[in-house]
Amino acid sequence: MKTAEIAQRYLDYFEKNDHVIVPSASLVSNDPSILFTIAGMVPFIPYLNGLVPAPYARAADVQKCIRTLDIEEVGHTARHGTFFQMLGNWSFGDYFKEGAIGYAWELLTSAEADGGLGFAERDLWVTVYEDDDEAAALWKKIAGLPEERIQRMGKEDNYWHTGQPGPGGPCSEIYFDRGPAYGRDGGPAVDDSRFTEIWNLVFMQEQITNVRSKTDFDVVAPLPRKNIDTGMGLERVAFIKQGVENMYEIDQVRPVLDRAVDLSGRRYGAEHGDDVRFRVVADHVRSSLMLLSDGVTPSNEGRGYILRRLMRRTVRAMRLLGVDEPTFPELFTASRDAMKTAYPVVADDWTRISQYAFAEEQTFLRTLAAGSTILDLALDETKKAGKPALSGSEAFLLHDTYGFPIDLTFEVAQEAGLDVDRPAFDTLMQEQKARAKADARSRKRAIADQSVYREFRAQGETVFTGYTDLETSSRVL
Ligand code: ATP
Ligand code: MG
Ligand code: MG
Ligand code: MG
Repeated sequence: MKTAEIAQRYLDYFEKNDHVIVPSASLVSNDPSILFTIAGMVPFIPYLNGLVPAPYARAADVQKCIRTLDIEEVGHTARHGTFFQMLGNWSFGDYFKEGAIGYAWELLTSAEADGGLGFAERDLWVTVYEDDDEAAALWKKIAGLPEERIQRMGKEDNYWHTGQPGPGGPCSEIYFDRGPAYGRDGGPAVDDSRFTEIWNLVFMQEQITNVRSKTDFDVVAPLPRKNIDTGMGLERVAFIKQGVENMYEIDQVRPVLDRAVDLSGRRYGAEHGDDVRFRVVADHVRSSLMLLSDGVTPSNEGRGYILRRLMRRTVRAMRLLGVDEPTFPELFTASRDAMKTAYPVVADDWTRISQYAFAEEQTFLRTLAAGSTILDLALDETKKAGKPALSGSEAFLLHDTYGFPIDLTFEVAQEAGLDVDRPAFDTLMQEQKARAKADARSRKRAIADQSVYREFRAQGETVFTGYTDLETSSRVL
């Protein structure tokens, strides 16, 4: 079952059950406090908070998401992407726990021939919040699940809130058992890798306040209108339904992985480190493509910096796979072709998207080339001086002035049989961060205190002496 077909089945099922189908919002959220849309819930926050009346009582959607929080998991677990799509169904003061559990179970376990997803009941486990007897009883009643396949979890895992005073409530999650070859027995409470989370049902039922931490807050009162927020990972369902090992091997992602394999001349499945890099490349290329298509462009701060980082990590991974030449024209084209059915914009806007992507790769390759020359010299001198490690200040200079990634410095040094003075490098990084913070603070003060400038201007015209004084100052330098 193709990924697009799973999404369509989801939407068809909920449309049949009186949900309004809502198009995906942009990856760039309207809320300036959130860099990206990290979950299906983000575009609905005003309705969930009760600040704006929802224009419909029931809705369903496929929401594009970016979660950079998961970046270190990518390629290592089977289930974490920096970009993914969250299928969601929503009730704003309409159906509640019984409806949400009933719909989820019916869609998952109905036969494919009947429009369902055709999961075998014996492969599904659920968790509920430890105090949520109501949800546990409903799982027993609706799904006929035995007690041991309804596991109770604490606030850390199974209570949802935004971290702000507002709505909160228990969750119930649905897990797929991949079988004993993938890990330990005993359900998601024991092994959340073998038992892969596919769907989170959130029951927003109460008003909370005094949020001190994820698990420490006060419940004020039940919400007058209770809401349902659910999120099902499209890529996770796809990799299970397609019978592949992980989300980087599904139809929307695998073609990029295969291009990377071809370009490298290596084999996928031969060496663990290489496999992780192939998966990272496949993931990051797709995330970058989708960010570019939503109008994000590479830069040194905010959203643009995240995009830049994803692209640079891709270049790094390809180099570690033995490819020093440009690869983006091939990789991004493969990703475009795999994504254009679901998101025609990636083809329609290709000229612009590809220009940004290819230029970014060229720039970074030049940075790497320039940095490599400087690094080689520094390593030579370190060796000649009989020192065991490249100094922290040289590593820092490469990073700070030339944008040369520190992990690459380590690697090249290692190849030359040298270490890098990491503690000294870390100290310099800390100092730089502190300086940047202090700068930001003084900029704020400067804006607040314009009188300094007014006073300065009142002293009369400033004469620029740089041309005549430059010679002296450069001698001093
Ligand atoms: P996990 O515990 O596996 O990290 P999660 O509890 O962080 O997942 P939720 O925040 O509950 O995930 O998101 C709802 C659903 O979205 C999950 O059940 C999962 O199917 C999917 N999902 C979450 N994060 C990712 C990701 N990084 N890549 C792909 N799918 C994801
Ligand atoms: Mg997570
Ligand atoms: Mg989870
Ligand atoms: Mg979850």
